[in-house]
Amino acid sequence: MNIPYGRQTIDEEDIQAVVDVLKGDFLTTGPKIEEFEKMVCDYTGAKYAVAVSSGTAALHAACFAAGIGAGDEVITTPITFAASSNCILYCGGIPVFADIKPDTYNIDPKDIKKKITNKTKAIIAVHYTGQPCEMDEIHAIAKEHNLFVIEDAAHALGADYKGKKIGSISDLTTFSFHPVKHITTGEGGMITTNDPDLYERLKLFRSHGITRDEKLMTKNEGGWYYQQLDLGYNYRITDIQCALGISQLKKLDKFIERRRKLVHQYNEKLKDVDGIICPVQKEGCNNSWHLYVIQVPKEHRKEIYNRLQLAGIHVNVHYIPVYMHPYYQGHGYIDIHCENAEELYKTIISLPLYYGLTDKEQDYVIEQIIESLYNK
Ligand SMILES: *Cc1c(COP(=O)(O)O)cnc(C)c1O
Repeated sequence: MNIPYGRQTIDEEDIQAVVDVLKGDFLTTGPKIEEFEKMVCDYTGAKYAVAVSSGTAALHAACFAAGIGAGDEVITTPITFAASSNCILYCGGIPVFADIKPDTYNIDPKDIKKKITNKTKAIIAVHYTGQPCEMDEIHAIAKEHNLFVIEDAAHALGADYKGKKIGSISDLTTFSFHPVKHITTGEGGMITTNDPDLYERLKLFRSHGITRDEKLMTKNEGGWYYQQLDLGYNYRITDIQCALGISQLKKLDKFIERRRKLVHQYNEKLKDVDGIICPVQKEGCNNSWHLYVIQVPKEHRKEIYNRLQLAGIHVNVHYIPVYMHPYYQGHGYIDIHCENAEELYKTIISLPLYYGLTDKEQDYVIEQIIESLYNK
């Protein structure tokens, strides 16, 4: 057995879409990029979308567009991939960690409130596992203190919050198309927004801060002319990748449906097992289930993890609280503690969850977990 915790599903249609681009005129900065962006707008209900080279680039671009700069504090969760906090550092900002809620494992709006100072500029909410954060509460806090809201929705493509698709409700929302996520472009990311000014800033940032748009330039010396208006990067995505993304996006609902079915089956078979805590789904939210995370007794977590690895089940732990990494410990976070996050980290295991996981493989995973819990 060799069962990863997540993996992509690529079919012949996907392969053909990529091959077609390779035979055409544009490998990058061609028509597939806008086509992919338009599809993500249609899917999420966002007005604008900008495709970039990774989910991390998307987060960096979002922080730039929000105007985060030296000394600005940005509040985020420690239970996330390091990129959602690193993007603040890229802009010279200061990540401030608010604790999570013990039931959903998402950032706690009450703790966000406590962490606000006169330097706070933005909140980066991460929809952990694909379960939307309490966005109404977060927006209310942001409004009161005049803060930007960025959603890191790397886990939450296709999720909805109170009837609205994630991607349509905050100033900026970022997605990732890494192969373990819902759909893939190999590497890739996207930022959605409803604000035309933020949209312009995102596009500038993606390509060196350079524009040929006459409305943005200070003058125009001729057809060849362009201007660099800001300091951007090369965060462009290729047409090759976007062709794959377009083909994948057509299958997203089918992918999510299968993930939801697998989650239901996990819940049914694990919820009454002594020692296991299954994830909860909050009212009014529709999780798109990037991850299926259970809690096990912390004194047995390592042993369970090791036994599952030996059985060919490559479970994972999402996440080590970001500030506990040596880099952060060495940069002023040594006395930072988020109790709930640290407690959660000791107990969690992410079980295999992806479109191609068969019922038979899932039953084997369940059998091995129960085995490793009770036959120590
Ligand atoms: C995957 C992920 C990212 C980074 O995306 P990449 O495409 O790998 O750069 C950021 N935040 C979270 C929560 C993620 O899961």
